[in-house]
Amino acid sequence: MIKLPVRARRLRGLGPRYALYVDNPLFKRSAYRAQHPLSIARTGTVAELSRILGWLHEDAIETCTAASVDTLCRFHDRAYVSALKAADESGRVEKVVRARYAFGTMENPLFPGVFARAATAVGGSIRAAELALEGRIVFHPAGGTHHGKPDRASGFCYFNDPVFALLGLLDAGLERILYVDLDAHHGDGVQDAFQTDPRVHLVSIHETDRWPFTGSTNPNSRIANLVVAKHLGDREFATLIRDSVLPLCASVAPQAIVITCGADALAGDPLSTMRLSNVALWRAVRQIANYAAPVVVLGGGGYNPWTLARCWAGLWATLAGFEIPSSLPEAATRLLASLECDLIDDEDVQAAWISSISDDPEFNTLGSSMSEVTAWTGGHSHSVVSQ
Ligand SMILES: [Zn+2]
Repeated sequence: MIKLPVRARRLRGLGPRYALYVDNPLFKRSAYRAQHPLSIARTGTVAELSRILGWLHEDAIETCTAASVDTLCRFHDRAYVSALKAADESGRVEKVVRARYAFGTMENPLFPGVFARAATAVGGSIRAAELALEGRIVFHPAGGTHHGKPDRASGFCYFNDPVFALLGLLDAGLERILYVDLDAHHGDGVQDAFQTDPRVHLVSIHETDRWPFTGSTNPNSRIANLVVAKHLGDREFATLIRDSVLPLCASVAPQAIVITCGADALAGDPLSTMRLSNVALWRAVRQIANYAAPVVVLGGGGYNPWTLARCWAGLWATLAGFEIPSSLPEAATRLLASLECDLIDDEDVQAAWISSISDDPEFNTLGSSMSEVTAWTGGHSHSVVSQ
């Protein structure tokens, strides 16, 4: 049994030495295929932007390694793991394999290095859990593949690294762990994995009527699915965090927390209609993380390269205790200006996405006053309407 830190600690003021950034050069390589929503620049830009701004030094970086096949088989079926490995090595997928395991498709394409990349994301989550148990706040932006299923790929996810972060914490003997999923999509793979495990409590905030169309009412009192209306803005989100999520955190009194902080709930993301500012997400993560000492923060979805890079770089700054400047040096604006995205028209790229990190907290409060939040918690639903 490991020794746990006695008290929860506040993030602000701790300074960079407490926060670690899990990375691997593999994550910088181009992946997926042209036209795929994940073919955009993602974590490589986050790290580079953070370096330019002086937030990411070598001593804060933990280079993770790939999880072994045996480790992957703790959650995933061996036949599926073997099939993905074989397909990656041969560069082709038989029709029957594609049908059975759902990779080699438009959604979950085969691309060179897919196996190593997915296995390394799992290795990163395992390492993140180990380091969090030592009292560090650990950010693993390439993690957050929350749709992965034991026996098939799903929703751009081949494996499910958040499951492995949670398993790592459970291996240490913890008995109350909280998983919070702030991605715009329901964290279905993680919910399925821990549906019957009394040690894991799950909260997912996700947009209504959105793929994978799961995550509504659930009779399990450990599962809180907070389904939000289209176009959710900061004000409703803050209300939901204050009135539903933080009270849940308090009642669970977790010994550790894993947060999947997808960037697809931000305004401007092409795969959701949610309209959060990055400031609202950072605040929520900070508030939730205060309820336990070991904290792992994972990435997740996010299909607008500008809002993603700004969000996760700013999230890292928030976790590591760095101030976010109101204006950027030329190297940072040049990097942001160099990004490209097939899913976003050039005229829709906002000037603020190039010139700043923090969104204007007032930018999306107008027009969202009629949004309704429906929360299903333990089989009971209630609505939150904020004006
Ligand atoms: Zn998502």
